[in-house]
Amino acid sequence: MPTTRDLTEADYDGSSPFPRSAAPARAGAAQVTLTAAIVAVPFIALAAGVPLAWGTGVSLTDLLLAAAFYIVTGLGVTVGFHRLLTHRSFTARPWLRVVLAVAGSMSFQGNLIDWVAVHRRHHAFTDRPGDPHSPYRYGAHLGGQLRGLAHAHLGWLFSSEPTSAARYAPDLLRNDPAMLRIARAFPALCAASLLLPFAAGWAISGSLYGGLTAFIWAGPVRIALLQHVTWSVNSLCHVIGDRPYRTRRHDRSTDLWPLALLSFGESWHNGHHSQPGCARHGRGPRQLDPSAALISLFERLNWASNVRWHPADGLPHRHAVAGRTTPRATTHRPGGGLRPGRPPRRRMPHR
Ligand SMILES: [Zn+2]
Ligand SMILES: [Zn+2]
Repeated sequence: MPTTRDLTEADYDGSSPFPRSAAPARAGAAQVTLTAAIVAVPFIALAAGVPLAWGTGVSLTDLLLAAAFYIVTGLGVTVGFHRLLTHRSFTARPWLRVVLAVAGSMSFQGNLIDWVAVHRRHHAFTDRPGDPHSPYRYGAHLGGQLRGLAHAHLGWLFSSEPTSAARYAPDLLRNDPAMLRIARAFPALCAASLLLPFAAGWAISGSLYGGLTAFIWAGPVRIALLQHVTWSVNSLCHVIGDRPYRTRRHDRSTDLWPLALLSFGESWHNGHHSQPGCARHGRGPRQLDPSAALISLFERLNWASNVRWHPADGLPHRHAVAGRTTPRATTHRPGGGLRPGRPPRRRMPHR
């Protein structure tokens, strides 16, 4: 039986379930327990928070703190983890790199090196055997799609299929001591992500109760919302939405406008998969991309340089997919570059 590594693009027909050898094994009890806690606790906090909000359990301070922590940690993931560390879409001053990595680590999405490794692997094997979280794992028929959506959103976190950081993130693992230290500090940064809202709420309101409600809203509830928005990019943004740009064969990434603001521009996922190294994911003129706006601000302040703003002149792969997708159908169209007629620009690495 072939292993995941043996399978090439040519071995996969684009609609069958992934081979059993490519399916993840179940994780051990300790990993399942830890992951379940990270996933479930914020929801329990939400359940506790809603009745509180009905009475006096939410204040303007709580909501502003929740928004502030959501924005800071969310941009830490999108600008820091994703566009800076995973795709190297720009170069940041060393202190800014640290700030972004710390902010992203406070989102409860795993340590930054694992995050980068898993995401680079997702780009290397998008929607074919080897992709850690493809909604097409169980096939392209309706039942398989529904099961696949659950897997891509959340289920993959419970698999024991390891992604080698040595293989996918050697730059961070071996040559970046600051990032390695921040990755090792992940548990402490998670604790800080919960304690800071409590401390801020207590300090602003002057009461322990104020600290508690700020903790609930700007802690677990904020974490749960950001987690599910991020996971929706993995699940929904490979199934529902528009596909205006060409991508690699089998890649079914989509642009999904309703999530654009909450995901800070990450839901322009088809645009991103078509040119993964580009600092801007929203490629259309009306595609709101707050992460790109922040990178642009960093550039103006001279905190960021070598920003890759322009799409490359073409894809480095022969096969591409374009058109609109539904859960059951994708149009394959071979060959071709992006937006013919545009002047050739600097080519970006496809990851
Ligand atoms: Zn994707
Ligand atoms: Zn990416």
